[in-house]
Amino acid sequence: MSDFDSIVIGSGFGGAVMACRLAEKGARVLVLERGRRWKPEDYPSVSQKHWLWDEDEPEQQNGWLDFRYFGDMSVAQGAGVGGGSLIYANVSIDAKPEIFENGWPAAIRYAALKPHYDTVAQMMSVQRLPENQFTARTRLMQEAAGKIGAADRFSLVPQAVTFDPDWHYGLDDPHDARHSKRWVNDQGVAQGTCTHCGNCDIGCPTQAKNTLDLNYLARAEQLGAEVRALHQVRCITPEGSGYRLQVRDLEGRRTISLKAERVFICAGSIGSTELLLRCRDQYRTLPKLSARLGQGWTSNGDFLTAAWYDDREISPTRGPTISAAIDFLDGSEGGARFFVEDGGFPDLLGNLMEKGGRHYRLRNTRLGRALERRADRSDPARRLMPWFGQAVDEPGGQFYLGRRWLMPWRKDRLKLKWDYRKAEQAVQGLADMHLKLTEATGGEATTPATWRWFRNLVTPHPLGGCNMADDVSQGVVDDRGEVFGYPNLFVMDGAVVPTALGLNPSKTIAALAEYAAARIA
Ligand SMILES: Cc1cc2nc3c(=O)[nH]c(=O)nc-3n(C[C@H](O)[C@H](O)[C@H](O)COP(=O)(O)OP(=O)(O)OC[C@H]3O[C@@H](n4cnc5c(N)ncnc54)[C@H](O)[C@@H]3O)c2cc1C
Ligand code: SF4
Repeated sequence: MSDFDSIVIGSGFGGAVMACRLAEKGARVLVLERGRRWKPEDYPSVSQKHWLWDEDEPEQQNGWLDFRYFGDMSVAQGAGVGGGSLIYANVSIDAKPEIFENGWPAAIRYAALKPHYDTVAQMMSVQRLPENQFTARTRLMQEAAGKIGAADRFSLVPQAVTFDPDWHYGLDDPHDARHSKRWVNDQGVAQGTCTHCGNCDIGCPTQAKNTLDLNYLARAEQLGAEVRALHQVRCITPEGSGYRLQVRDLEGRRTISLKAERVFICAGSIGSTELLLRCRDQYRTLPKLSARLGQGWTSNGDFLTAAWYDDREISPTRGPTISAAIDFLDGSEGGARFFVEDGGFPDLLGNLMEKGGRHYRLRNTRLGRALERRADRSDPARRLMPWFGQAVDEPGGQFYLGRRWLMPWRKDRLKLKWDYRKAEQAVQGLADMHLKLTEATGGEATTPATWRWFRNLVTPHPLGGCNMADDVSQGVVDDRGEVFGYPNLFVMDGAVVPTALGLNPSKTIAALAEYAAARIA
């Protein structure tokens, strides 16, 4: 007897879509999420607490950001109910149709995904920055594109953010939350509008960001799905026609066991790959998993160059984190395919001073008011432009379980073999374009030494590891995410994406989940 019809592991873009659509079909659904259920008052942007997730001691440290270091490659990802939608920069964009022509199962082409991309756009309420709300970064992007003769490649990116057309930078204290207007979304959840506070990556204080807990997961819960936060799945074993899970309850500090007829692994590119590697190679509960497991991983060619402008205020800590793009995905720059974006970041010092000024002991005192005013002017990075972007690199990574330094007899440490040469041409093309755009607009920049000398990269867009394919010799799951050799076991998240997209991947991951859900009875 199963405890649930379906258990979904992880509540990011794959998991939230699956949970919602399975609940709509009347299934008894349980979502197990290793991270917390966040409320705006707990977000790091507001509380200044609970920043990090630590995979080695998740019962002690189960915060917002899970940063993994794998030598030449580091990966940033979110943890919490809503997965990467809590931490992400809101860009919600279709992949280019040509991307699906090579390396994908025959059934997955842009035309097959297009109706599902449209559904995602509607559920996530995707919009573009209003013309009267261009940030200094947006204007610099537009000017730079014009100056290098690429004006037609510039566009505003679609974002899962709700903007108020009446908001503008001329308002008194424009980023203050009092300028955010309340509204109610299609799932009946109250949200606010954007005040360009710049905190998108550390929690949107006004809930202008359309995160998954406010739409897909809200709908799933309204339909009876149960979501258990701080529950980390450690092992999956076939049992009867379904699967039994060993789950660590991080709050209760105990291990529980649950059974479901169908299991959907949606723990993200790293999380799903690691869980299945452990089940195949460490616990040996799923020994028939494809030999391709862990292979074909890509960093999606993410790269950032910081440029300095002596005579220009850019204030990258204000405005939505990413607002615009200059599109070179057609390969016209010597064959390298990439997508340049502006990259903002939160004003951590300013946030801290503002919070200090609003402390109940300081509120309405001279010191409190001074701290709040100072917070607004503190921005030491106001002349900095972070040029960001992604590139279509070749999938050059392989995850495996390797030996620990201090306990070499234990082969249970997640490791990555990363061949930087597979990313070199694409990433270098993007890095060179950053310098060209900087020079054209009177700034100064050099390519970071971490890339020039060490070929080290950091990515927030891990893709692959449980790649989808037409058969088990090429991948781990089919086009609906069902695991080859294990009926009723599915992977549906960034881990199934078999190639780089060269732009922000969350909408494609959600569209693939919509596609799979539409084909699962
Ligand atoms: C700073 C930052 C900015 C980004 N900006 C953008 C952007 O603007 N646009 C965009 O498209 N993408 C962006 N991304 C990437 C985006 O967040 C990811 O591509 C996306 O979230 C991946 O979706 P997913 O479903 O694969 O996994 P996730 O969204 O990561 O969800 C996986 C979930 O599974 C949980 N989990 C993991 N292991 C277990 C386990 N064993 N048991 C239970 N739960 C588990 C995790 O806590 C997580 O909540 C950004 C990422 C970062 C870090
Ligand atoms: S800029 Fe601020 S208000 Fe706007 S979406 Fe980002 S965090 Fe929310």
